[in-house]
Amino acid sequence: MTREPRLYDISVTVNRDTPEWPGDSAFASEWSTTISGGDSVNVSVMRSSPHVGTHADAPLHVRDGWPGSHELPLDAFCGRAIVVDVTRSDGPITLALLAASMPGDLAERIGRSPRVLLKTGRTIATGHFPEEWPTLSEECARALLGHGARLVGVDCPSVDERKSKSLPVHHMLFSGNACLLENLDLRRVPAGDYELMAFPLKLMGMDAAPVRAVLREI
Ligand SMILES: [Zn+2]
Repeated sequence: MTREPRLYDISVTVNRDTPEWPGDSAFASEWSTTISGGDSVNVSVMRSSPHVGTHADAPLHVRDGWPGSHELPLDAFCGRAIVVDVTRSDGPITLALLAASMPGDLAERIGRSPRVLLKTGRTIATGHFPEEWPTLSEECARALLGHGARLVGVDCPSVDERKSKSLPVHHMLFSGNACLLENLDLRRVPAGDYELMAFPLKLMGMDAAPVRAVLREI
């Protein structure tokens, strides 16, 4: 009997305990109607920044006039992806570190798997918002785009540094038509090639959209 390919749920659980970006709106929900209270159905209401939990940033997040959540291209969020383990990185993720963390020819690996998921080990899935995390160097981001990367995903809360106000990596990747996933949970996922499925919710004109991100073994 052939075994079904294994699925890895790489989404962070969203509830009131999910750490939000400091100062951002946390997830909150309450019951509007309850069966136990005499209503015919249980119905809840929720409020949250779209950046809580695993999500796709829209270009609108960093520049007025750039595409919003409903304009994110679906094909970027579905297809061959490579998980790269850069947990040993303390500073910026340099091109040398990226190349050393991906066996084989970098251009060929990204050409085959143009969705690059970086495992830094600094994930909110632990229940704590990390103090800092490694980010892509400019040279590295440019190389990913040059090799045709369609999407860059990270397990940390941002592709830019926590204290950054100019968000240079967001700007560079969006300018190169790449899409972004943040707050992945890659703790149980070995480095290697997979199929990614992580469609953004069809929310109109938002700066980001929650996704349910899943990797399938290939
Ligand atoms: Zn975000």
